Parts: sequence; structure tokens; C-alpha cells
Amino acid sequence: MTTLERVKECLGKIKKENCKINALLEIRPEGEILKEAEEIDKKIKRGRAGKLAGKIIVVKANINVKGMNISCASKVLEDYKAPYDASVIERIEKEDGLIIGIANMDEFAAGFSGETSAFGPVKNPVDKTLITGGSSSGSAAAVAVGFCDMALGSDTGGSIRNPASICGVVGLKPSYGSVSRYGLIDLSMSLDQIGPLAKNVKDVNLLFDVIKGKDERDATSRECPAHPPQSKRGEIIVGILDLDCLGVDERIKELINRKVEEISSKNGWKTKEVNIENIDLAVETYYPLVYVEFFSATRRFDGRRYGKKIEDAAGPEVLRRVLGGGEITKAEHEGRYYNSAIRVKEFIRAEFSKNFRSVDCIVSPVLPRLPWKIGEKISVEEGYAMDVLTIPSNLAGNCSISVPVGKIDGIPVGIQIICDKFEEEKLLGIARAFEGD
Ligand code: GLN
Repeated sequence: MTTLERVKECLGKIKKENCKINALLEIRPEGEILKEAEEIDKKIKRGRAGKLAGKIIVVKANINVKGMNISCASKVLEDYKAPYDASVIERIEKEDGLIIGIANMDEFAAGFSGETSAFGPVKNPVDKTLITGGSSSGSAAAVAVGFCDMALGSDTGGSIRNPASICGVVGLKPSYGSVSRYGLIDLSMSLDQIGPLAKNVKDVNLLFDVIKGKDERDATSRECPAHPPQSKRGEIIVGILDLDCLGVDERIKELINRKVEEISSKNGWKTKEVNIENIDLAVETYYPLVYVEFFSATRRFDGRRYGKKIEDAAGPEVLRRVLGGGEITKAEHEGRYYNSAIRVKEFIRAEFSKNFRSVDCIVSPVLPRLPWKIGEKISVEEGYAMDVLTIPSNLAGNCSISVPVGKIDGIPVGIQIICDKFEEEKLLGIARAFEGD
């Protein structure tokens, strides 16, 4: 099929189904998309096309795409039109990826369920009464339902892996620094990473290869090693994360354990139990960091330069963080919260490094529980606990991926595979072995 034929099919699907799923907030003008698809097909014919030619892509509403309404799914930015492209967008366009629209999300990426968008919750394509997970809810749902081949999301504490797991797609959180954050609207600049979601590991790998690498406009970005750091031992050793005290549903544990056993014995891999000390403090460590950094980043939304004043227009979860972040910042002259959190963050990072001396990857479920029904009353603590298994990777800055490995009661469940910093190639190789039922 040509790109033009495929994109027409996607647009048809979007017209019919987006009103039910609410995965996309804005679609580019159809004429523009079709014209670009024709151009790409011409390039393919001439053998001149880029690596992403033929791939149809949507972008989370917190990554700047010139001319599009990058609202962060918030009333605060509902009229904001991006005046420039994020670096990842420039790279995608250079390789002929066809961006067709902007995906819904939790407001300002501050969420875990896909319910806090000011423009309505995203519905799970598997069962429309269920949450999709978040905050990259629209990106995961759009891939799952077939509106596109690939999507960009952002992950501060689990926002790519969490909805990928619940929607049954693959989602990669790159190592901190692997992908430029230039043009991403921050939730927490010391933790955020942009990353790809797709139906399979191959497409996730393809998109990651295009967006990764050093960018002059993001000083924390760097080149990733071109070759997979082979297992230092010549054989893969899989670390199985000790889940004690993390409140994981027994059915999820069982499914993941069975899968790890099956894939390890099929590939001749060894397994070993791994304990990350103080992992139970990860959620408590993460939130003060996010509150403070988010508060600081939102000071520009003062209603003067662009957008509305955040305190006047944001939803309750965003307000909680802005007000909480302000309070913590006031207490900061004593270094009580932020600095203590930084110390625990460093401890958890060191724990991962120590363990990666004896294992190649660490596996666990992505989520501790199955998704709830949209609108169900969930306490703040229960919601925050949703990311108990994904947050540690952001604190450590390493790379991790969610790969679908089965279903419980018809609901997709993902395995999380974590590798050391900048070992994405090894991670993607191991992920490929886990793919498929
Ligand atoms: N659920 C976490 C939070 O609410 C993670 C969000 C994210 O990764 N963007 O902060």
C-alpha cells in the first residue's frame, strides 16, 4: 500500500472513531496531509526516502509542532499555537515521517490515568469504560486503535510505559539525555524524557533511532553508543525485581513470572532475584521533585505573554502541584524537601548501578494493578501509587520499556524491562524476545 492509501485509511478511521475514543485533539488539514503523503510516495519511488517514509505519526500535546495547538490538554494553553518545532519533530520530518495530528493527554502530563485532560478523558480502545492510563493517554490509544503507526509521548514517572501497558502497545522511556527535550513543555526537567510508542518493538526502535542523539539546544542530551553493549558475561542474566511491599496484584505477578520463565528458558538466559534497596521510597521521593520543578516551570504561565494564568485556568491535579510546589519552595531555605529527595534519588541511582554489575536487565510488571473505570473515585495516594514500578527508572535516569505480554480479564498487561543508562540497543534486543504471545 502507498503512504497516500494508508493515510487515507487512518483519516477515515479517525473520522469515524475519534469521537468515541477522544485520543486526538487536533488533526492537520486533510489537504496538507494528502499532499505530503504524495510527496513521500514520490521519494519512495525514486529511492530517496528517509527512514520513516510511510510511517504515520501523532504527537503528544506537550511537544511543539509548528502551527499546531500545543495545549498540554489544558485551558491554560487552549489558544497557544506553537511558533517552532521541537528538535524531535525536525528529526522526524527530515526522515519523512508523516505527522498527522496532536494527541490528548493528562493536563500538563501531570497524571496517570488519562482522565485529567481539560478536553475530556481518553477512552481505552479495548473497553471504552476503562481508563487508558496516562499521561500519554492519547498517544497509546491512537496507536492501539490504528489511527497511526507510531506516536511520541513523554515520560517523567511512567507516562509512556503506563498507558502502553494498559492499551497493549510498546512504549520506550529512553535514558535521561538520550533524546533532546528542546521543545517539550516541562513537567519536571530533571526527569522528563520524550519517547516512542508503537504496535511493535521494531517500530519503537525505528522511531527512537531517528529522534535520539546529541542536540546543541539541549545541554543534557548526548550521543548514544552506536553498538549494543554486549552482555559482559557473554550470556544474558535477567534480574527479577523483588516486589515485596510494593502492593502488586498477585495475578499480575504470576503472569509476569510465567513469561519471564518461558522466555528465559527458550533463550538460555539465567535469572536472578534483584533487590533495589529503598525502592519503596521512590514515589515519596519523586513527587517533591516534580512539584518543585513543575511550580518553577509554570511561573511563565502568568496570563501576560501567552495563555491564561495557570492558577485561574488549570484543573485540580495541576493546581495541587502548583500550590504544593510553591509551599515546598518556600520551605527550601532550609533545604528540607527538595534536597532530601535529591539524596534519595542519588541513592536509588547507585542501587541500580550496583545491580547492573551482575545482571543485564531488570524485569517487573509495569503497573501494580489493573485499570479502573473512567470516573471511579480514586484517592490521590492510590493514583500516585500507580507509578510505583515505573518511577524508579526515571529517578535513576536509565532506560526502560513496556512490552505487552498477555491479558488478565481481557485487559492487556505489560512487562517492564529496565537496562542501564544508554543501553537502549541491548534493551530493545531483549524486548524483542518478549514480544508476541
Ligand atoms: N503519574 C506521574 C505523575 O503524575 C507521571 C507523569 C509523567 O510521567 N508525565 O507525575
